[in-house]
Amino acid sequence: MENTILEDKTLVCKSCQAEFKWSAKEQAYYQKRGLKKQPQKCSDCRQKANKLRDSAMFYIHCGFCDSDGAMLAPPPKDQVAICDECFQKLVRSTKTPTSVSESA
Ligand SMILES: [Zn+2]
Ligand SMILES: [Zn+2]
Repeated sequence: MENTILEDKTLVCKSCQAEFKWSAKEQAYYQKRGLKKQPQKCSDCRQKANKLRDSAMFYIHCGFCDSDGAMLAPPPKDQVAICDECFQKLVRSTKTPTSVSESA
Protein backbone atom coordinates (compact mmCIF):
# COMPACT_ATOMS: atom_id res chain seq x y z
CA MET A 1 0.00 0.00 0.00
CA GLU A 2 2.63 2.50 -0.91
CA ASN A 3 0.89 3.93 -3.88
CA THR A 4 0.44 7.40 -2.56
CA ILE A 5 -0.85 9.79 -5.14
CA LEU A 6 1.81 12.31 -5.84
CA GLU A 7 1.17 15.89 -6.61
CA ASP A 8 3.41 18.54 -8.06
CA LYS A 9 5.26 20.39 -5.36
CA THR A 10 6.72 23.84 -5.35
CA LEU A 11 10.21 23.94 -3.93
CA VAL A 12 12.68 26.75 -3.48
CA CYS A 13 16.08 26.42 -5.05
CA LYS A 14 18.90 26.51 -2.52
CA SER A 15 21.20 28.02 -5.08
CA CYS A 16 19.24 30.81 -6.74
CA GLN A 17 16.24 30.99 -4.39
CA ALA A 18 13.87 30.63 -7.29
CA GLU A 19 10.73 28.60 -6.93
CA PHE A 20 10.55 25.55 -9.08
CA LYS A 21 8.14 22.76 -9.61
CA TRP A 22 8.98 19.28 -8.48
CA SER A 23 6.70 17.28 -10.66
CA ALA A 24 4.83 14.20 -9.50
CA LYS A 25 6.67 12.26 -12.17
CA GLU A 26 9.99 13.28 -10.74
CA GLN A 27 8.86 12.51 -7.23
CA ALA A 28 7.90 9.03 -8.38
CA TYR A 29 11.36 8.65 -9.87
CA TYR A 30 12.93 9.69 -6.60
CA GLN A 31 10.75 7.22 -4.70
CA LYS A 32 11.65 4.46 -7.10
CA ARG A 33 15.30 5.09 -6.51
CA GLY A 34 14.74 5.21 -2.78
CA LEU A 35 15.79 8.79 -2.49
CA LYS A 36 14.38 10.40 0.61
CA LYS A 37 15.70 13.84 -0.05
CA GLN A 38 13.93 16.26 -2.27
CA PRO A 39 15.88 18.18 -4.88
CA GLN A 40 17.71 21.17 -3.50
CA LYS A 41 18.15 22.98 -6.75
CA CYS A 42 16.02 24.00 -9.66
CA SER A 43 16.62 22.31 -12.98
CA ASP A 44 18.49 25.35 -14.24
CA CYS A 45 21.00 25.21 -11.43
CA ARG A 46 21.28 21.46 -11.66
CA GLN A 47 21.94 21.72 -15.38
CA LYS A 48 24.52 24.37 -14.70
CA ALA A 49 26.22 22.18 -12.15
CA ASN A 50 26.18 19.23 -14.50
CA LYS A 51 27.63 21.31 -17.26
CA LEU A 52 30.42 22.44 -14.99
CA ARG A 53 31.15 18.86 -14.07
CA ASP A 54 31.08 17.83 -17.71
CA SER A 55 33.53 20.49 -18.69
CA ALA A 56 36.01 18.35 -16.73
CA MET A 57 37.35 21.12 -14.64
CA PHE A 58 37.68 20.83 -10.93
CA TYR A 59 34.33 21.04 -9.32
CA ILE A 60 34.34 23.45 -6.42
CA HIS A 61 31.99 25.21 -4.14
CA CYS A 62 32.87 28.87 -4.26
CA GLY A 63 33.46 30.41 -0.86
CA PHE A 64 32.86 33.89 -2.20
CA CYS A 65 29.45 33.67 -3.81
CA ASP A 66 28.47 30.41 -2.15
CA SER A 67 27.51 28.77 -5.38
CA ASP A 68 28.82 25.92 -7.44
CA GLY A 69 31.61 26.57 -9.78
CA ALA A 70 34.63 25.10 -11.43
CA MET A 71 38.30 25.81 -11.54
CA LEU A 72 40.90 24.94 -14.12
CA ALA A 73 43.31 23.99 -11.37
CA PRO A 74 42.54 21.88 -8.34
CA PRO A 75 41.27 23.98 -5.45
CA PRO A 76 43.99 24.73 -2.91
CA LYS A 77 43.44 23.00 0.38
CA ASP A 78 44.44 25.91 2.57
CA GLN A 79 42.49 28.48 0.63
CA VAL A 80 38.88 29.26 0.00
CA ALA A 81 37.82 27.93 -3.35
CA ILE A 82 36.84 30.60 -5.82
CA CYS A 83 34.81 30.28 -8.96
CA ASP A 84 35.87 31.82 -12.22
CA GLU A 85 33.25 34.54 -11.99
CA CYS A 86 34.41 35.70 -8.57
CA PHE A 87 38.00 35.39 -9.63
CA GLN A 88 37.39 37.74 -12.54
CA LYS A 89 35.65 40.17 -10.22
CA LEU A 90 38.52 40.00 -7.79
CA VAL A 91 41.06 40.62 -10.52
CA ARG A 92 39.07 43.59 -11.76
CA SER A 93 38.60 45.06 -8.29
CA THR A 94 42.27 44.77 -7.37
CA LYS A 95 43.22 46.63 -10.52
CA THR A 96 43.19 50.23 -9.46
CA PRO A 97 41.45 52.17 -12.18
CA THR A 98 43.54 54.95 -13.59
CA SER A 99 40.56 56.88 -14.83
CA VAL A 100 37.38 56.95 -12.80
CA SER A 101 35.06 57.92 -15.59
CA GLU A 102 35.28 55.02 -17.96
CA SER A 103 31.77 54.72 -19.24
CA ALA A 104 30.73 51.35 -20.54
ZN1 LIG B 1 18.25 27.55 -8.99
ZN1 LIG C 1 31.96 32.60 -6.80
